[in-house]
Amino acid sequence: MSESGRRGPNNSGSRDGGGHANRGGRSDSKRNAQGRERNRGPQRGYSNNAPSQRTRRADPARLVAYEVLRAVASEDAYANLVLPARIREHRLDRRDAGFATELSYGALRGQGTYDAILARCVDRPLEQLDPAILDALRIGAHQLLSMRVPAHAALDQTVGLARAVIGAGPSALINAVLRKVTAHTMVEWLDILLEQETDETRIAALRHAHPEWIVRALRQSLVNHGRSKTEIDALLEADNAAPVVNLVALPGLGNLDEAFENGATAGELVEDSALSAGGDLGRLESVRKGTTRVQDVGSQLVARAVASVDLGAPARDGERWLDLCAGPGGKAALLAALAHRDGATLVANEPAPHRAKLVQQALSAVPGESWTVRTGDGRELGGEQPESFDRVLVDVPCSGLGALRRRPESRWRRAPKDIADLGPLQRELLTSAIDAVKPGGVVAYVTCSPHPAETTAVVGDVMGKRDDLEMLDAGQALDAVSLTGGLGAGHELTAQLWPHVHHTDAMFMALIRKKS
Ligand code: SAM
Repeated sequence: MSESGRRGPNNSGSRDGGGHANRGGRSDSKRNAQGRERNRGPQRGYSNNAPSQRTRRADPARLVAYEVLRAVASEDAYANLVLPARIREHRLDRRDAGFATELSYGALRGQGTYDAILARCVDRPLEQLDPAILDALRIGAHQLLSMRVPAHAALDQTVGLARAVIGAGPSALINAVLRKVTAHTMVEWLDILLEQETDETRIAALRHAHPEWIVRALRQSLVNHGRSKTEIDALLEADNAAPVVNLVALPGLGNLDEAFENGATAGELVEDSALSAGGDLGRLESVRKGTTRVQDVGSQLVARAVASVDLGAPARDGERWLDLCAGPGGKAALLAALAHRDGATLVANEPAPHRAKLVQQALSAVPGESWTVRTGDGRELGGEQPESFDRVLVDVPCSGLGALRRRPESRWRRAPKDIADLGPLQRELLTSAIDAVKPGGVVAYVTCSPHPAETTAVVGDVMGKRDDLEMLDAGQALDAVSLTGGLGAGHELTAQLWPHVHHTDAMFMALIRKKS
């Protein structure tokens, strides 16, 4: 850990005032006097501040953001997993943690647009820069163009960070480049970059910081699921907004009283849900016990719809339920609690042992007689246990294009090929799920992607090969478990939720019933 990391969270002045000037109790007058003598001006590419005034230590919140970007770029890490660990390690207080989150997530989400701006300010192709320098520049650009940080603080603190963690030479380059960035506001930069541009996709991609292929894919998805392609800007914007953390109290096991006492508000879409007020949720006892969990409302709706869809039988008592792709266990935990309430049992299947362990942990808040975890390939389960389950959830591995707001780096990591590559697995898992369901039972095919190739095309292909299946109205099933109704109507009888409409992840669900 760096020295600045050990200093602890008492640097709040740095948040908006560039509060380094009085650090360490040194005399301002002496520093200023020395500074005037020694400052050689910006023509050398250094800060306007005197050397002794320049920040020499990394501000812990910016250091955390920098470390997150470095881990994402060099270790293929997930920002949402690295960030909390780094916040703990550097002992950031709530305010600094918020700053580090906004900075790291914003710089990662906006990467494509910031890189286009930086490319105009650097005298060589960005690929030729040391990746660490590029990450520091992205952090600087996000502060300068999209956060309410005074320019002098953003510049000085980012250069100070670079000096502390990369070196004096690179920090001079970073200073010079960021000074060029400050010449324009974000709006002006976009106008400059788009001056000659007429292509709608490229304009939306740059304005909303998404790869062009994702803009095209999401536009196609909107149309495929019966919405207007003119919603694309709203959808891309929703991807860039920090999602509110949703909570679910496991039915019959958890309650939200403690969350409400800590500022959470009741969720409007589904019962037993709440919108967190932020802060460390680990301090809530029910969260520690696992009876209250963090879960997107879209996932809550889908799990409840699977458990509730009317199969014509008077009771669910004695039913067997299957979650074929359960890791890390979010929907399985809610399903297990519902199974426990209804007298059913759940098998939660996951092939990756470390993820199966997460499922086990997620389910541990629910009495053990209601569930079991199976570690195995879901493609084989249908053959091994044919016609064995009343309700099957198959929440397949997918591109995650519907959850981009949660994973700030993922849009830049994904490629169209990923979607093509996942197609066979998605079809095999759905086929296995259908084999595993009893006649009269239901399979819910779910993705957190609205992409037609992962949703309606998979369902259409698999159903087209059999004549023992019928579609149920998935939109109606979502409405039946929602507090508002009017959700999810999509292509034919499938359902599609949207971040810009429902403030959920873009979950897709098809309900397929095996004829009796
Ligand atoms: N339902 C989960 C939840 O709500 O927490 C999310 C499921 S995630 C979209 C897809 C899961 O499918 C991953 O955990 C992945 O490991 C698993 N998976 C991958 N290949 C699989 C296979 N052949 N059989 C079953 N599951 C598989």
